[in-house]
Amino acid sequence: MTDPIEQRPPRYLCARCADTTQHRGVRWPEGFVCRRCYQKATRQRGLCPDCNRPNRLLPGLSDHAEPVCTDCAGIDDPRLTCTRCGDQDEPHRRGLCARCCLTDDLTALFTPPGANDVTTELLPLLDALTGQENPRSAIIWLRNPDVLDLLTGITERRYPITHATFTDHAAPRTARHLRDLFVSCGILPAYDRNLDRFTSWLNTTLTTTEITQNSDVITGFATWNHLRKLRARAEDRPLPEGPIRNAKQEITVAIDFVNWLYSHNTALADATQAEIDTWIATGPTTRSTAMMFFKWCTRHQHMRPDLNLPRRRPRQRDCCTDR
Ligand SMILES: [Zn+2]
Ligand SMILES: [Zn+2]
Ligand SMILES: [Zn+2]
Repeated sequence: MTDPIEQRPPRYLCARCADTTQHRGVRWPEGFVCRRCYQKATRQRGLCPDCNRPNRLLPGLSDHAEPVCTDCAGIDDPRLTCTRCGDQDEPHRRGLCARCCLTDDLTALFTPPGANDVTTELLPLLDALTGQENPRSAIIWLRNPDVLDLLTGITERRYPITHATFTDHAAPRTARHLRDLFVSCGILPAYDRNLDRFTSWLNTTLTTTEITQNSDVITGFATWNHLRKLRARAEDRPLPEGPIRNAKQEITVAIDFVNWLYSHNTALADATQAEIDTWIATGPTTRSTAMMFFKWCTRHQHMRPDLNLPRRRPRQRDCCTDR
């Protein structure tokens, strides 16, 4: 005779994964469901195949092992219903679903210290974030210190709501993602990605490159001749790479030219034809792209008007050194 107790399944035999070592879990009609299987089960949503109701939490299993809703599975667990919005979900904290928790977190984050309400400008972002498909991943995303820094900074008005706030931030990837969110919510106007890269390249170049003389002329050339034109083009349609590349090269070559003159003790206004010819002849072929700079300088009287501007030479292959 065998002892009937020995025939009973182990107390913590998970009805889904057959594990017996997980002691945390729930008792559902099918038996003990371990914590791991419970979590997996309570994160499935969709159309219940048994009752045909859409957008249901589907923690149960039908006779055909398909995920079904709590009603069809006979799961009577009040913890699966959010105590605030009544939606069914795995409780995230204090009886609230993840979406309600996310709404609370964002409302607190977007409310300036001492204020009663969310900063008005950030309301569209609050709507977009709380309405997204997966509130759990948004809650995790909000733990990122760079996201927090930008969002609290903007809420507290330490950072203005401008493109520059994002382009100047120390965490470029995070800032770009947030900036795109601000644009998609209509808080910031749309921007041209290539123009944006060019603008930050220009800022860096003008502030970090050594420009030994006439830096105001270089800045004027870069800003008025290039940036202004590129901005105007970007208003019609997205900027292609080509004009950006040309602008960068012409600015780089212009800096090279004024620096070369300086190293030869010549001011830009005194540059002679012979010096221009020597500079063109003794450097890489890209120097011929300085033509635009020369034209601009003579037009704005930064260089003598009687100079013969070198024509752009056809592209030469660098390997042609045969004699
Ligand atoms: Zn299990
Ligand atoms: Zn159902
Ligand atoms: Zn809720």
